[in-house]
Amino acid sequence: MNFDGTTYRQKLGTAMGTKVAPTYATLTLGYLEEKLYKTVEENFGVECKHFIRNSWKRYLDDCFIIWTKSTDELQSFYDILNSMNPNLKFTMESDENKLPFLDVMVMKKEGKIVTDVYYKATDTKQYLLYDSCHPKHIKNNIPYNLARRLCTIISDKDILNVRLDELRELLKQRHYPTLLIEKGIDNAKLRDRNSLLQIQEKPVKNLIPYVSTHNPKNQEFFQVIKTNMPILENDPRMKDVFSEFQLIKSKRQSPSLKKILTRAKFNNTEETAGVKKCHHPRCGTCPFLQETEQFIFKNGRKFVIHSSFTCESSNLIYVMTCSGCGEHYIGQTGDTLRHRMTVHRQQIRQTEYQCTAVSGHIKTCAENIFPNFTVFPIYKFYNKTSEKERETKEKHFISLFKPKLNALS
Ligand SMILES: [Zn+2]
Ligand SMILES: [Zn+2]
Repeated sequence: MNFDGTTYRQKLGTAMGTKVAPTYATLTLGYLEEKLYKTVEENFGVECKHFIRNSWKRYLDDCFIIWTKSTDELQSFYDILNSMNPNLKFTMESDENKLPFLDVMVMKKEGKIVTDVYYKATDTKQYLLYDSCHPKHIKNNIPYNLARRLCTIISDKDILNVRLDELRELLKQRHYPTLLIEKGIDNAKLRDRNSLLQIQEKPVKNLIPYVSTHNPKNQEFFQVIKTNMPILENDPRMKDVFSEFQLIKSKRQSPSLKKILTRAKFNNTEETAGVKKCHHPRCGTCPFLQETEQFIFKNGRKFVIHSSFTCESSNLIYVMTCSGCGEHYIGQTGDTLRHRMTVHRQQIRQTEYQCTAVSGHIKTCAENIFPNFTVFPIYKFYNKTSEKERETKEKHFISLFKPKLNALS
């Protein structure tokens, strides 16, 4: 029997992205299995529990069991399985002669179980074209890896030879050189199936990766470095470090058109454009900040902002408006708006700091009004800027809106 908890996996997959879904599926199914064994024992006795426990195979949520009991018992077992959790619905597939499980077709042949490779009906077998722009070592390894997979999965020699012939044909169609195909197949056949089935534990060695960006037009330096590594390995001063290391070739993918043309991150700030007070209890700028999405100049000109700002925003252009006469001043800062306004307020308050004409104007023009000016940030730089860049933008806004208080001197 082959069971598949598809509904569950799809739900998990959508909810959490495909990366963590397998972990959750394994955890959940593992937990439910314990519950399952208990229920089976309560309903069918301890002998049946042992049978299920020993025959039940699972990869993530794909389950497999060779059923040696009656069809009625199978139906009862299937019902128990589907009553475990309302969110988890299993589908069952059963056949007396052959049944796929993952990428393996399990079959009965002369009273024995044999395995063949299983391809889903949707598998187009469009292997990487040999003349594609991928790193050569990847393409060169494909025949061996595909052949090794067949040698691992297929238990019957005759079936294996048929499948390897099919592979030869497929790879030829994808422009792989005949010699490379034969070499790959021979290498895979050379290995004994039992050793292929065993998990190979590689000796842990310290690795030094040589990372370069893949480009078939670039000169390959790895071989040059590798050839010259003995210079370091044999050097009396360096050999302690380098003799224990293994140099490996690593390729960084060059940016694809998709990567060049699209951004992975959305700029959320642009979606909620507007100015908001920070509401920090000790913020001296909040009372001076205008909370709108568009700014209307005294002459009626409107300016709609596309960024979001608070008192803590930095690297920006702002407009100050005198509360007495309603005239404007445009300024820039690389610092936070809050800090810049603190300086402005201090200059307005204390005559000895009045190094700008605007502070002197506001002090007298809006003497008994609170707040004596308001501020509105209009433009945000998203990248690091120099003072000069900000000044250029500031000049642009000044020439555009001609604020009177900038003209004072
Ligand atoms: Zn504030
Ligand atoms: Zn004024």
